[in-house]
Amino acid sequence: MPRHSQILDSAAGPLPAPADWQSHEPVALLRNVLRLTAPNPGFMTGPGTNSYLVGDAHTGFIAIDPGPADTDHVARLWAAARYPDGSGGNLALIVCTHSHADHSPGAAPLQALCALAGTSVPILGLASAPTARANSHFVPDASLAHGQRLVLSRASGQDSHTLQAIHTPGHAANHVCLLLEEDGMLFSGDHILNGSTTVIDPPDGHMGDYLDSLDLLHQTCSAHGAHFILPAHGHPLPDALGAIAHLKAHRLGREAKIATVMHANPDGTPDQWLPLAYDDVNPRLWPVAKRSLMAHVEHIQWLQSGGGAP
Ligand SMILES: [Zn+2]
Repeated sequence: MPRHSQILDSAAGPLPAPADWQSHEPVALLRNVLRLTAPNPGFMTGPGTNSYLVGDAHTGFIAIDPGPADTDHVARLWAAARYPDGSGGNLALIVCTHSHADHSPGAAPLQALCALAGTSVPILGLASAPTARANSHFVPDASLAHGQRLVLSRASGQDSHTLQAIHTPGHAANHVCLLLEEDGMLFSGDHILNGSTTVIDPPDGHMGDYLDSLDLLHQTCSAHGAHFILPAHGHPLPDALGAIAHLKAHRLGREAKIATVMHANPDGTPDQWLPLAYDDVNPRLWPVAKRSLMAHVEHIQWLQSGGGAP
């Protein structure tokens, strides 16, 4: 049974306005989970990238997604990982959910700060695939295997914090989610966001993989009684299973709409399909929506060809 969910339950509450976000102080979501949002709000990043610290002063911390290479943010993250005497840099591991520019570039400078203080802290994750864009190149010190468990605990073995790695390609080929087993919460990276829909950008993004990974996350949350999702952008999502089901239905609904538009305009181009398939979306977002449209088109064509090996 998850240990601390009730604490987050009261902390989640109604969503404050985006203006209420701040990047200067870590926010305690649980006794053993801190969130520090990077000062990179924007069109694609919402209020900014959420970096998370999991652990406590006695076990050390795992940093998830150090974010962009922002000197101040990285220094705040380092300082927030406190030892019992209040000093910073109490990090055991750094994990990147994927290689995108708003997630992984902060890992090396954070590691360097730790090294300056005499601590060797490995960076874990999955290497970027050859399909990744040039600004998303990433090579971890060690690869995270699917199902691998990262365990923090006191020397006595008490007060453990266990993160289980779940490979979730789709948003990025090297995307990993992390399940905090003791508390029943899922760190979803960019696979699941709050307040916006993640972009699937082929060829590194892949719609079939994205939908399969959603199914896997649903199974995992169900099996572990995980009730909360902590996304890399936006507030915690309560009702993990409902949120995943809603997201899948949204994707399949969009795909059905695109398939209808393609069927009605078989000689059309993606640029002609886009305004018809996304007529409910602000045209300002169409350039970004086009990437996901291309991922849907690829998936629709694959299904229509019989759904063999992609
Ligand atoms: Zn992101």
